[in-house]
Amino acid sequence: MKPLLTGIGSLSALALIGWLTLGAQSPHTPANSTHKVEPKPAQDQGKSMPEKVVKSNEEWKEELPYASFCVARLGQTEQPFNNKYWDHHEKGVYKCVACGTPLFSSATKFESGSGWPSYFQPIDEDRVEIKIDRSHGMVREEVVCATCDSHLGHRFPDGPPPTGIRYCINSAALDFEPTKDAEK
Ligand SMILES: [Zn+2]
Repeated sequence: MKPLLTGIGSLSALALIGWLTLGAQSPHTPANSTHKVEPKPAQDQGKSMPEKVVKSNEEWKEELPYASFCVARLGQTEQPFNNKYWDHHEKGVYKCVACGTPLFSSATKFESGSGWPSYFQPIDEDRVEIKIDRSHGMVREEVVCATCDSHLGHRFPDGPPPTGIRYCINSAALDFEPTKDAEK
């Protein structure tokens, strides 16, 4: 007998493979096919990172309180000891005021004496990005929200254990959500 996979046979085999790859929902899948197409779980894509939020400054200006807009979108710094969370001690999560991504936990907040809310680490390192800020004649590490690029504050290497890092954040860039009684 001649081998089955001659010229036209090979082409058909290739076509079949292509068809099987594309045709997961085809009603004509041959009964003898052993080729299984596993559906990809939807949560696999971008599981750890929230999707980027991109809006114009005009849009942010309409959505945010003015003080939050000035800090988060224009990079301004609020007054120390005269802001919402510098002396705030409730249990809960501090979220980005612009996009709502949970950024810092009350469990990592500490008394820095700076007059701004200070944390020794974010909830997840991937939720914030560090940029080099050369304004005001200094070289500092600027902390921004990785999701929406809002200015949050600065990072300094003089924090307490366990990290030795101080995330010095503007209250106006944050929105506090208290832990529910059941979770306390
Ligand atoms: Zn954000």
